[in-house]
Amino acid sequence: MAVRNVVRMGHPTLRQVAEPYPIGEIGSADFLELVGDMRETLHAYGGIGLAAPQIDVGYQLAVIEIENAMTRYGEVETIPFSVFINPVVTVISPDPAGYWEGCLSVPGMMGFVERPQHIEISYLDESGLACKRQLTGFLATVFQHEFDHLQGRLYVDRLKDPSLFAFEDEYRAYHLTEDVSEPARNNE
Ligand code: ZN
Repeated sequence: MAVRNVVRMGHPTLRQVAEPYPIGEIGSADFLELVGDMRETLHAYGGIGLAAPQIDVGYQLAVIEIENAMTRYGEVETIPFSVFINPVVTVISPDPAGYWEGCLSVPGMMGFVERPQHIEISYLDESGLACKRQLTGFLATVFQHEFDHLQGRLYVDRLKDPSLFAFEDEYRAYHLTEDVSEPARNNE
């Protein structure tokens, strides 16, 4: 297993619609190596999510792991390291909520984005089993951010307002409300 290089905004792979992961390959040596590398890379970079295009692999596969349930948005459900293959997002309620998002492919920056806050996802897990799951609130944002990567989209495409796009230091100095604790790094 190895830590892969995370490509940054401007790299063409981040702007391509990824190919569905070949179902027959799930569980293969190549699959296990890819997932293992994504896990090591996620940990090395200190993120909570990573999509294959972020390591220049053009497949619809993402990993998410949320260990620390306390974020600047309060307590969220922890998610053990999980693999999401060929995910589809269905909006249950279009009512939006906004969060400041960061991205390992846009290092040092934060941006305020509104997204639907009740979704259902359908995907294959690392065993190839078809799964469905509903998500609300901050987790709905995390999953939509991650799965956007599989469609060639970045959160900067969805900024509510260009003035709400900031370097991390300025975000902390001027945009982080004082009633919350040290911001979690919600890099995805
Ligand atoms: Zn991202």
